[in-house]
Amino acid sequence: MIWRRGIVTRFHSNTVTIIDEKTKEYCECVLRGKFKKQQIKPIVGDFVEYSIEENDVSGKIENILPQHNVLFRPKIANVDQAVLITTIKNPDVDFLIVDKFLVQAENQDLECVIIVNKIDLLKTEEEQEKLEAFINTYSNHYTVIPVSVTENININLVKEIMHGKISTMAGMSGVGKSSLLNSLDETLELRIGNISEKLNRGKHTTTYTELLYLNFEAYIADTPGFANLEIRGIDPKFLKNFFVEFYEYEPYCGFANCVHMNEPNCAVKEALEYHEISLSRYNSYLYIYKELEERGNKKW
Ligand code: GDP
Ligand code: ZN
Repeated sequence: MIWRRGIVTRFHSNTVTIIDEKTKEYCECVLRGKFKKQQIKPIVGDFVEYSIEENDVSGKIENILPQHNVLFRPKIANVDQAVLITTIKNPDVDFLIVDKFLVQAENQDLECVIIVNKIDLLKTEEEQEKLEAFINTYSNHYTVIPVSVTENININLVKEIMHGKISTMAGMSGVGKSSLLNSLDETLELRIGNISEKLNRGKHTTTYTELLYLNFEAYIADTPGFANLEIRGIDPKFLKNFFVEFYEYEPYCGFANCVHMNEPNCAVKEALEYHEISLSRYNSYLYIYKELEERGNKKW
């Protein structure tokens, strides 16, 4: 019997699928009885040690290694970064959706990467300006990568950013998630539309998360939680903590607990007037604040 290390990619009622860290082969594993007794279950993203008899196809989970984080929606461990895919055109960019995504990711303390796909479609000056404005809005605080899957622009950069990491991937339907995954790893052989079904899994299916291995040493989790961009569980008065560009101005607000709305001597609003903070970001802040307030700060 040999012991090996793997990562949990999927979860069934009594078994889990793991992918071997070295060979990248998938293996179904049962849990040792001790886990049941301790009421512990590995989750997707967990690094585990498993044992397998020679020539056997299924193994046994022996140990779950310490997790460096756990997301609850979707439930997944050891996520290194959250990747959002958006477009400027076809579909049109929606700043509010981008900002809601960033708030969720910040709330979970994740690094964020924004991929702007379909830049090949931006032909006119006006369209180019839109791209520039988008990049200006976000690139001070986040990694923004303009990409074209069809023209193979910056695909290698995306690979570099995902290499050796577990990333979540989210984006509205039609932005090119499946196309991007296919071009990142042609061996995935995913039918376009097939994976997007999974990524945008409808309400009718009970959602489970699955980790995909891409052949350049990267793991990607589909994230139905991010596709559902209803933000909950944040007290509106703390929402400002998830708009990172506010930080540097906050110490200069007249009130220590300023939420940057109607208070006098608000340094954030002053920065807005001087265009140091983007209007679309501030508008998203107001919008999400009101939404949270109306929802009465219900938990997840
Ligand atoms: P998903 O719903 O996010 O998975 O999106 P798909 O991958 O199914 O892509 C939606 C449509 O956008 C398809 O018709 C793709 O061919 C197209 N598409 C994807 N990437 C690009 C790109 O970089 N440029 C252009 N022009 N079209 C793209
Ligand atoms: Zn303020």
